[in-house]
Amino acid sequence: MFDLHRHLTSSSPLDDCFYATSRKEEWKAVIRAPYGAVGLLPSEPLRDVQEIYALLAAHPHLQIGEAGLDRRFPDPDGQEAFLRELLTIAVELDRSVTLHCVRREGRLLAILRSMDKLPRLLWHSFSGSYELACESARLGIVLSYGPRLKNAKLSGEGKRVTRFPFGLESDHEKPTEDGYEEAWQAHQRWFADLTGWSLDQLVRNNDEKRTILAH
Ligand SMILES: [Zn+2]
Repeated sequence: MFDLHRHLTSSSPLDDCFYATSRKEEWKAVIRAPYGAVGLLPSEPLRDVQEIYALLAAHPHLQIGEAGLDRRFPDPDGQEAFLRELLTIAVELDRSVTLHCVRREGRLLAILRSMDKLPRLLWHSFSGSYELACESARLGIVLSYGPRLKNAKLSGEGKRVTRFPFGLESDHEKPTEDGYEEAWQAHQRWFADLTGWSLDQLVRNNDEKRTILAH
């Protein structure tokens, strides 16, 4: 199954995964991935927008991600300003944005609602409430369910989590491929059990979301 969100390891990138980056040092490597995105998380100094723009312009297959808001790090206003710049670039260059959000869901939605135009959006490792999922779906966001969904209240909704545009991700962030395939397949089986969707249906659904978000 195509993996909608994971990170680079020491091995060469696979061709059935959408690779996100969170630090500038990873940008060069992600260009080699068939499906990749240039991103910067609030744990890093949030700058170099011009450099991101230049990379995207030079590499039409690259998307933006991950980027977003994170309460564990300072300067919420700076985080917001940076995200707004990336969203604007994404619209201009017609790229998708993979969103990262830790305990700033209300502010993230307010930002998205205030934009004139939104790019295609993937909310990675979504584990918010059912109501938040409804709001996100109204904005056209694709929710990406990773292994963390298992511990989120939302998984108590069972089959109802498939009412929204969604896809599955491994969220693999280890330095090597060790355990990747096993964990990814276990997540797919767990989600199929939770929702009653067959693996074939889930494969087709993730392919459809790849076409929307990673091309
Ligand atoms: Zn990630």
